[in-house]
Amino acid sequence: MTTQLAQPATLPILSHWIGGRPVEVPPEETGPVYNPATGEVVARVPRGGAPEVERAVAAARAAFPAWRDMPLIARSGLFFAFRELMWRHREELAALITRDHGKTFPDALAGVTRGIETIEFACGLPVHLAGLNTPNVATAVDTYTLRGPLGVAAAITPFNFPAMVPLWIYPIAMACGNTFVLKPSSHTPGATQLQAELWKEAGLPAGVFNVVYGGREAVTAIVEHPDVRAIQFVGSTAVGRYVYEEGTRRGKRVGAFTSAKNAMVVLPDADMELTADAAIAAGYGSAGERCMAQTLVIAVGDAAERLRPLMLERIARLRVGPGMEPGVDMGPLYTREHRASVVQWIERGCAEGAELVVDGRPFVHPTEPEGFFLGVSLFDHVTADMDIYREEIFGPVLGIVRAATYDEALGLVNGHQYANGTAIFTTDGGAARRFRLEVEVPMIGVNVPIPVPAGYLSFGGAKASAFGDLALRGEDGIRFFTQQKMVTERWPEPGRRPGLSLVFPGNS
Ligand code: NAD
Repeated sequence: MTTQLAQPATLPILSHWIGGRPVEVPPEETGPVYNPATGEVVARVPRGGAPEVERAVAAARAAFPAWRDMPLIARSGLFFAFRELMWRHREELAALITRDHGKTFPDALAGVTRGIETIEFACGLPVHLAGLNTPNVATAVDTYTLRGPLGVAAAITPFNFPAMVPLWIYPIAMACGNTFVLKPSSHTPGATQLQAELWKEAGLPAGVFNVVYGGREAVTAIVEHPDVRAIQFVGSTAVGRYVYEEGTRRGKRVGAFTSAKNAMVVLPDADMELTADAAIAAGYGSAGERCMAQTLVIAVGDAAERLRPLMLERIARLRVGPGMEPGVDMGPLYTREHRASVVQWIERGCAEGAELVVDGRPFVHPTEPEGFFLGVSLFDHVTADMDIYREEIFGPVLGIVRAATYDEALGLVNGHQYANGTAIFTTDGGAARRFRLEVEVPMIGVNVPIPVPAGYLSFGGAKASAFGDLALRGEDGIRFFTQQKMVTERWPEPGRRPGLSLVFPGNS
């Protein structure tokens, strides 16, 4: 059973969320939110800019001292309360995501659940914030480390995981004692509004969590604001590079997690039925609009000959349709413009000489002809000199690349400009072991096509898929959002002062 959202008589207008309450804007200062399955406008989202960012940062700054000083157990209690509310409302959140994004309801629900895992991690904040204490490093001297918050932190997030990606960031930042400004994608804003309301219901003090909707102007205002101390960005490489370079130039901590082109290597000894299921799921799930999608299948030796018919069997069974419809495997693309861009990529692939085995372009949904639907496409004989190999398409377009040897396949993966996720499919443990040691991509699957690490671990890529030294979430998330302090403390016994010495302090 799926959750249906009631259709309101008038279009809902979303509000910024600043200082613990909605900040309404007149309709002329808003833009449309489309339901990609129907092509209809379903809501309006504010087009915020510098003034709204200014207000949100000021609210976050005002809330910071009390939030920093709140006893850890009390702070943790708010995360437990928020987790329960999010769990209770998970289907509503997922339905909003399907409405705005187009992905299927079960897929949206799975993303919400993976986001909630990070709230659960944040509940353990008293443990995550513990420091190291070493007594007696010198005579009467003890040393210990503290982890303190930075101040106001911010996130700029993409359209494709409207709940999960922000949830991978702000619970950690806030658990560490920072206050927060979230600038989500304006294409998929519905799930953010509900989270702000649930935080209020959980009892979060006003100003700790703020939301500003908007585009380039709002992002620039966040990047340039002197009171924003740390930013995590998730989105395309072009925008991520700008946020990273401009933010770090201003002395901020910035982590940017960006575009991808992931490849799965298939060795001839792989379980081909399992591999075919994996390739189809990882390539076409969420219409290929995932940064962990595997859009290249690098088949070694005769693997392609055996895999291709199995993939075609599965493609023939796929159902494309509105994401709320039970039994649908793949929804529409998120905008009309993005659909057109993916169509252009398919044309490019044909022009570059790849073999278009399945062409998704003619697909029109029978009852939703205005929806942004595209069928799935499969290319074979894709080569490393093609743009469809080098560039991210972010649509339901999968390419088979043929490699003669394992070494050639590994060289292809390691030679790519992007490095987010990868996988190897094999029944040979030694080959899998070699792969995980030699591959230069940080998130690795062995017979797992979408190796998104569990919620308590970090997540992040390398090369053109990530900017900055620390990954999202997990231990890296805690380090990113805290300032470590190292304290060296002397408490001599009465009457045993060390005396005056101009020698550099030694540990004796
Ligand atoms: P995007 O870069 O267009 O947008 C990301 C954010 O930046 C949004 O909040 C958007 O409003 C803002 N933005 C867009 N254009 C801007 C501009 N010119 N100046 C300033 N801000 C701007 O990305 P998207 O289309 O929303 O998301 C898809 C991309 O995100 C893909 O490249 C995908 O691989 C990537 N992504 C990466 C990860 C990861 O963990 N590496 C995860 C999810 C998505």
